[in-house]
Amino acid sequence: MNHRKKMIAGNWKMNKTSADAVALVREIALQVGTRSDVDIVVCPPFTALEGVGPAIDGTVLKLGAQNMHPESAGAFTGEVSPPMLRSLFVTHVILGHSERRQYFNEKDEFINLKVLSALKNQLKPILCVGELLAERESGSTLKVVQTQVERGLEGVSRELAAGLVVAYEPVWAIGTGKVATSEQAQEVHAFIRSLLTKLFTEPVAQRVRILYGGSMKPANAPELLGQADIDGGLIGGASLEARSFVDLIKAAAATT
Ligand code: PEP
Repeated sequence: MNHRKKMIAGNWKMNKTSADAVALVREIALQVGTRSDVDIVVCPPFTALEGVGPAIDGTVLKLGAQNMHPESAGAFTGEVSPPMLRSLFVTHVILGHSERRQYFNEKDEFINLKVLSALKNQLKPILCVGELLAERESGSTLKVVQTQVERGLEGVSRELAAGLVVAYEPVWAIGTGKVATSEQAQEVHAFIRSLLTKLFTEPVAQRVRILYGGSMKPANAPELLGQADIDGGLIGGASLEARSFVDLIKAAAATT
């Protein structure tokens, strides 16, 4: 058993108005009460951050954003900066999600700028990595993940690295109902930890949380969360309802 506290983070994607988001976090907060055995992060869309911040004040829930521009300010129409997120009490930020890579053409180099900027601005990055179905089928999963981890984390100092969160999300498992087997996931998680060891030393790598993402549901969570290097989940679909999200938090707590 390791000493890493499990984390359950909800990626709401482009779902929920601000009012709906506030209602959902109120329900989650009510159900989780003061439990502190799992770190709980909700990542609503940008438009809901300002409403959700005060609604979770005084609860155990933490606030995350789903993306961010690396610059602090400037002529970047439609973008949101780290200080803007900080001013809304955001503490975490999802970076390099496969939907950003796939539909918005984000590359490792740009994601790396975001990771460095997040850390500089005291935001905890949740760096997403993962292979496409064709890459898994051609046997290049570990190579793809290695490139994304190494390029995504280039220039991160050992001192700041322990605050990172990495999410392994096989793209073929996101929103498809196809979950990786616990063996498939554990193999990649252990590999990511070995990469982190090379980059930042063993004690630092042992502190970094590595989340699994991809159709995680209350039914399949216990087995995944029971693996040695799976430190929690990044949850899409099942984070949009209080009941399933809270059941995932309970599943994480049960494996602690
Ligand atoms: C995600 O988008 O990060 C995700 C894991 O989605 P889902 O749980 O719906 O597969």
